[in-house]
Amino acid sequence: MLEFLKDLFYPEKKVCLACERRYDHSEIEGMCDRCLSRFSFINHFCSVCGREVIPATLIGDHPCPECQEKRPPYNFARSVFTYAGYPREVLLEFKYGHRPDLAKPFAHMLRLYYLEYFSDQDIDFIIPVPMHADRKSYRGYNQTERLAEELAKLLKIEYKDVLNRIKNSLPLYTLAKEDRKIELEGAFQLKINRDPELFADKNILVVDDIITTGTTASEISHFILDELKAKNVYFMTLSSVPVHVE
Ligand SMILES: [Zn+2]
Ligand SMILES: [Zn+2]
Repeated sequence: MLEFLKDLFYPEKKVCLACERRYDHSEIEGMCDRCLSRFSFINHFCSVCGREVIPATLIGDHPCPECQEKRPPYNFARSVFTYAGYPREVLLEFKYGHRPDLAKPFAHMLRLYYLEYFSDQDIDFIIPVPMHADRKSYRGYNQTERLAEELAKLLKIEYKDVLNRIKNSLPLYTLAKEDRKIELEGAFQLKINRDPELFADKNILVVDDIITTGTTASEISHFILDELKAKNVYFMTLSSVPVHVE
């Protein structure tokens, strides 16, 4: 049917931002139920880093072997879906496909996880993991800023975009474990003319699109806790890579 006729007959239908199909009802605004059914949400996860544990042997309040070996500096992290299959494709569109509008359905997903896991944590500010200025101008936007801003709006929590990333780091997964930390040393900075006391004694929720190696999450948390003297740092991401337990 021609598009204008569709609008005439089904004016109430919304368009899915992932597959562009029209739909009536969905639990997530901006994404149809068919797309949503292709998302498998993480249920069995590490109690600290929030990544899916495969096989699902560690159920309940257990850290994964990696977090047992070295406890990350943030209180805990949660992640919505594992970085694979269809959800990964939609996330890649969001990051590289000039599709900042996908922030909306993704922020609605984060909101559900927030309500489940963070609503008792007294979060003062929601902040994005910053992107280096060169990378941002190349891509046109920082998807993480859009995501964090949209989430803050939905939750009516103050959004603060006050950090800069001053090192254009190499993709961390290309580096050996011991080099990742070095690559990110001194990578974060408070933007000029911002109150250095802003985060002092506050509870900060940091939003990112993905946790892969966990180094970024650890380094930015160290910065916020040690340099900016926050009380607690929490982490929430759309996706993460699973932890495979022997
Ligand atoms: Zn769809
Ligand atoms: Zn873990």
